[in-house]
Amino acid sequence: MEYNPENSGGFPYSMKGKICTREQCRCGGVFTETHVKRGNKSFLDMVCSSCGNRPRSFYIFLYLSKDQCPDPNERKVRIARNSDGHILSSYEEASRLLNEIRKADDENSLNIALYLPKEANQFRGSVLLDRWLKVKHSQGRHHT
Ligand SMILES: [Zn+2]
Repeated sequence: MEYNPENSGGFPYSMKGKICTREQCRCGGVFTETHVKRGNKSFLDMVCSSCGNRPRSFYIFLYLSKDQCPDPNERKVRIARNSDGHILSSYEEASRLLNEIRKADDENSLNIALYLPKEANQFRGSVLLDRWLKVKHSQGRHHT
């Protein structure tokens, strides 16, 4: 499915989530989600309501369901980087990632750990450890 900024408000996916920024505009204004016209198309973007500047970093705020995360303290999730580890530097990029997560959620194939930097590292670590143990195990078998 192609990226469609008109869908970033939640429809047609069921999972809730929103795009936020920690930044405040240099002019003291507040960044807000706004429909911006480009040619004859209207896009959702985040701009300062006073001067029209855009933030340079974004994050996705997600609220996971009970099934996805039994611990209520960990159900609120912030994702500030894409799968390559780069900061989400445009609203469009954040929006695309959010739609990807929502789509995976709708298809019941969402592994939220892949999107969380800390847990993703733990995941990678355990895979490496598992591999290391298998190597050790097979080496041990060679010696006996
Ligand atoms: Zn401003």
